[in-house]
Amino acid sequence: MPVYNPPLRDMQFVMHEVLGITDDFKAMPRHAEVDADTVNAVLEEGGKFAREVLLPLNRVGDEEGCKLDRETHEVKTPTGFKAAYAQYVEGGWPSLSADPAYGGQGLPIVVNQAFYEMLNSANQAWTMYPGLTHGAYECLHAHGTDAQKAMYLPKLTSGEWTGTMCLTEPHCGTDLGLLRTKAEPQADGTYKITGNKIFISAGEHDFVPNIVHLVLARLPDAPPGSKGISLFIVPKFLVNPDGSLGARNGIHCGGLEHKMGIHGNATCQMVLDGAVGTMVGQPNKGLQAMFVMMNAARIGVGMQSLGLTEVAFQNALAYAKDRIQSRSLTGPKHKDQPADSILVHPDVRKMLLTAKAYAEGGRALALYCALLLDREFHHPDEKVRQDSAELVALLTPIVKAFITDNAWTATSSCMQVFGGHGFIREWGMEQYVRDARINMIYEGTNTIQSLDLLGRKVLGNQGASLKKFGRLIAALVEEAQGDEDMAEFINPLAKLGQQMTQFTGEIGYKALENADEVGAAAVDYLRVAGHLVFGYFWARMAKVALQKIAEGNRDPFYQAKLQTARFYFAKLFPETASLMVTARAGSAVLMETEAVFA
Ligand SMILES: Cc1cc2nc3c(=O)[nH]c(=O)nc-3n(C[C@H](O)[C@H](O)[C@H](O)COP(=O)(O)OP(=O)(O)OC[C@H]3O[C@@H](n4cnc5c(N)ncnc54)[C@H](O)[C@@H]3O)c2cc1C
Repeated sequence: MPVYNPPLRDMQFVMHEVLGITDDFKAMPRHAEVDADTVNAVLEEGGKFAREVLLPLNRVGDEEGCKLDRETHEVKTPTGFKAAYAQYVEGGWPSLSADPAYGGQGLPIVVNQAFYEMLNSANQAWTMYPGLTHGAYECLHAHGTDAQKAMYLPKLTSGEWTGTMCLTEPHCGTDLGLLRTKAEPQADGTYKITGNKIFISAGEHDFVPNIVHLVLARLPDAPPGSKGISLFIVPKFLVNPDGSLGARNGIHCGGLEHKMGIHGNATCQMVLDGAVGTMVGQPNKGLQAMFVMMNAARIGVGMQSLGLTEVAFQNALAYAKDRIQSRSLTGPKHKDQPADSILVHPDVRKMLLTAKAYAEGGRALALYCALLLDREFHHPDEKVRQDSAELVALLTPIVKAFITDNAWTATSSCMQVFGGHGFIREWGMEQYVRDARINMIYEGTNTIQSLDLLGRKVLGNQGASLKKFGRLIAALVEEAQGDEDMAEFINPLAKLGQQMTQFTGEIGYKALENADEVGAAAVDYLRVAGHLVFGYFWARMAKVALQKIAEGNRDPFYQAKLQTARFYFAKLFPETASLMVTARAGSAVLMETEAVFA
């Protein structure tokens, strides 16, 4: 069975030594009392839960999958999943960062995100059940009426009920404007909802007595397209005014998808047959309300891939240390053995370092984004709140797409470290590759994330948000001026920062003539932007490590950090040069290809 050691040391490094999160907390009345010891203690316990309770269920979930009873429409989750959820609720984990007004513990989001990374490392399929609940909670918290909040938020906060997001239909995935599910207003102010949803994660399961579905549907007089979509709460069981469960609602699971990975999570076809729903937010403004859930989920998907990258790395490293095969090119290193450990081979190291650099860079970025969310929601200064919201909007597609693309590379590289043993089931590595693949697809494919970044978040505001991030880079470059040890990190970062302005401007200019130029460049552009952001965090991490080493600190952690930073800038970051070339190749090579597709 794969091993997993929660990366608490690295989390502490990022949170306390790089980001200085408790300095931020001091400025926020909600979190002023949260100190480093509290954060560390919560994560230590969270890590134990992940490793001891969830990790042993990862393989079970993959092998057993979920089972639908076609008579009752109930779904049975794999052995041990339900009991683990009961333990999760018992431990108070669902409420970690939820609003105390609804029974939450009110801890910072950054703590919850770090906790979620560990849950995902241990068992992504299981983690999706409570993970989606967080999104439903956020959406209702932001857009629900007082009555809706009072009815649903305490139960979602405690974990007594779970949530889902029901967007996708057989003929409509990316383009939600095509959706057909109908909502007919009733005399009592509720709506009767009819339609078919597919691919609904955690749409039906046996963890809890009630499931709160957030469903997108169309009113009879709605305008066509995405301007005519409304959002509804559709509970599995109707809820009486006193909070007790009433009649079974007209929504059920009609089938389970058979899929490549995350077998332990129920991916459901949901049938709505006159189900009773109540509207969330304004008529025809459902997509805007749902975006709260989608943005939370996009960062959540980044955390899924971060978790998989970390656990794949840990297992590949342990294997590489043990596995002996061939001799080092520079002569035997383990003379007492018939061959050297595969760790002597440069390319094996490259595969391991790739995963480590992506995991640690991803952790720094993801935790920084979570801290931005804490600032956005709880900082007393309006300007700080606005700036944080703008930055998190810019970085969300990067968290989603860059971290998930990197995880695909990283889990595949880690499988490669095992040779043929990675491809067979015994070691668990092929499951990580299979599980990681969906993260590039759902919650808006990575192409859609790239279009969101380049089209909306960058060109849509004439690069203003990107310039804001650019100022952070400029400040770091300025601080490191004259520091020779930092030059190998700062110089490439500063150069890319400068190139980015012209690169973005060129695409924007071409797009004025031909909108396909955005679509042709977007995926390459997001990878360049991803490296710009990762480069910034790797430079910050290298700076802290250099300082510690200069102070005489002998903890090998700092040497490892520095060596990984060096690897990142030497072997991964330079792909930005070729990506800028391919992005500049323009749309004609893609669009003037009629003969190919005839
Ligand atoms: C396991 C699993 C779990 C899921 N969970 C949920 C869930 O809980 N709730 C939910 O509502 N949905 C869920 N989904 C659905 C998921 O979000 C969609 O599959 C995804 O959004 C893509 O939609 P699609 O599959 O219809 O692909 P399509 O939209 O048909 O896309 C096909 C291809 O065309 C590309 N494409 C489409 N439009 C554009 C464009 N404008 N520009 C460039 N390229 C484009 C896409 O990038 C993709 O490569 C889940 C899916 C899976 C497989």
